[in-house]
Amino acid sequence: MRYGLILGDQLSEQIATLKALDKDQDIILMAELVEEATYVKHHPQKIALIFSAMRHFAKSLKAQGWKIRYQAFDRTQAAQGFVDFVQAQLEKNSADALVITESGEFRLQQAIETTWSSQLQIPIHILRDDRFFCSKNEFKQWGSSSRILRMEFFYRKLRHKTGYLMDGNKPVGGKWNYDIENRQAWNAQDSIPLALEFDRDQIDLDVIELVKAEFQDHIGQINHFNWATTRQQALQALDYFIQHQLIHFGQYQDALVHNQDYMFHSLLAPYLNCGLLSPKEVCDAAQQAYFEDRVPLNTAEGFIRQILGWREFIRGIYWLKMPSYSELNELQADRELPAYFWTANTKMECMRECIRNSLENAYAHHIQRLMVIGNFTLLNGISPKQVNDWYLSVYADAFEWVQLPNTHGMVLFADGGLVASKPYAASGNYIHKMSNYCQNCHYNVKTKTEQDSCPFNSLYWNFLAKHRIFFSSNPRMSMMYKQWDKLSLDDQNTILTHVDDLQKRIEEL
Ligand SMILES: Cc1cc2nc3c(=O)[nH]c(=O)nc-3n(C[C@H](O)[C@H](O)[C@H](O)COP(=O)(O)OP(=O)(O)OC[C@H]3O[C@@H](n4cnc5c(N)ncnc54)[C@H](O)[C@@H]3O)c2cc1C
Ligand code: SF4
Repeated sequence: MRYGLILGDQLSEQIATLKALDKDQDIILMAELVEEATYVKHHPQKIALIFSAMRHFAKSLKAQGWKIRYQAFDRTQAAQGFVDFVQAQLEKNSADALVITESGEFRLQQAIETTWSSQLQIPIHILRDDRFFCSKNEFKQWGSSSRILRMEFFYRKLRHKTGYLMDGNKPVGGKWNYDIENRQAWNAQDSIPLALEFDRDQIDLDVIELVKAEFQDHIGQINHFNWATTRQQALQALDYFIQHQLIHFGQYQDALVHNQDYMFHSLLAPYLNCGLLSPKEVCDAAQQAYFEDRVPLNTAEGFIRQILGWREFIRGIYWLKMPSYSELNELQADRELPAYFWTANTKMECMRECIRNSLENAYAHHIQRLMVIGNFTLLNGISPKQVNDWYLSVYADAFEWVQLPNTHGMVLFADGGLVASKPYAASGNYIHKMSNYCQNCHYNVKTKTEQDSCPFNSLYWNFLAKHRIFFSSNPRMSMMYKQWDKLSLDDQNTILTHVDDLQKRIEEL
């Protein structure tokens, strides 16, 4: 008999562990562990989503005839981590081996590879996670043969490999990327679909009560919980997205609208990341909608690029560069994260809205994460460790392999430009152009150095001035520096002095 350990982000029936095991002889192990639920203070909705999805998954495997040993969350249990848990099972029934699909997280994978076998005194069979389009080795090979690692080139390679939106050797429509037609501000007319609501069963309700009782000191609200927790619900979510949202996904991908928490985004990331949906079925569905003329090419291509391109590229960078990646701090950022990241209590309307969405829904869409919250942390030089911990804890889809390169690389440029070719730094003008937040804001987006000027404006110029030497060899930054150089020395000094003052009272902004 072998044990097969299934982790909380491996909830797919196609997971390699299940394919390798024999239902009639082997036993599946699953556990809601104190160590995993508390190593950062995860948002209560994220914990509820994973525990409930795990319980539903175990129930469904049991119905198919698998033997399951499941440990529900209990702080008094002796087994607080994976090794204790497997050890306790081995004491009940010895086994010939432990089978596990590789972990998505470096910390855990290292432990599995290096110490588990000696701690548990049985062979560990580690299987490749084949739920991705590109394996770690394939990415490594591509990385070693490319002069520079850029998502766009990697994405084209995967378009060739998978055949998505390909016409022989050429991209359908003649271009690889249709972003020129995307990324518009919302026209205030196209109606934004309501979020799909899911029915709650007893498993969900029990888990929600458990999370309310056990994780009161974690940031974020549980009462708005509205995530799919079963494979069927995740498929409904995919179908709803394809039917109602994909059509405008590309066009409004970057749009920000007051009180519209989801816009035309899919909300599928948590399901992709914990295994309820596969990236292939999601890309297939988007491509099919294009083939059936239900959505235009710009939106189908834009959406597929996020999953086939960005998601796979980000994973590749994580495994290529860890563990040193998380220690990088190329811009030497070291300031503290202000308290409003845990309350949304700020006069900056854009920040208030995006942090509110994060706390209420364990969600913010990409541009809220990148160009509002992330931009603010970049411009203020907030310590990468603090920013990373916040992002890892707050979003329902946050798993380190995908969160870290996005936060550390794309937002903070702490990796010196591995993920992004230039920093996503922007003044209030960008937020004003893409949103209606500025209309209701205490601050004035049109000015830079008045008492009520939009903080993003002076912070933006200060960021450029502060890192001039670092970015001097980056051709993509030269335009920005030309604009800075057009300002008189007096104006430049007034901006820098204004930022000194702003940063002293960052908690009051
Ligand atoms: C600072 C920051 C932190 C992020 N942290 C996470 C995270 O912890 N987990 C996570 O899954 N995504 C993360 N992302 C990427 C992206 O913002 C989210 O995947 C997306 O907002 C999730 O919402 P959605 O499912 O509605 O996505 P949609 O906008 O509908 O996009 C479709 C899918 O594309 C994929 N995708 C899009 N962009 C990226 C990207 N940059 N990296 C990886 N996948 C991408 C996701 O699987 C997503 O579900 C982060 C981005 C930033 C800028
Ligand atoms: S004025 Fe500045 S702080 Fe206020 S919403 Fe606009 S960009 Fe944000």
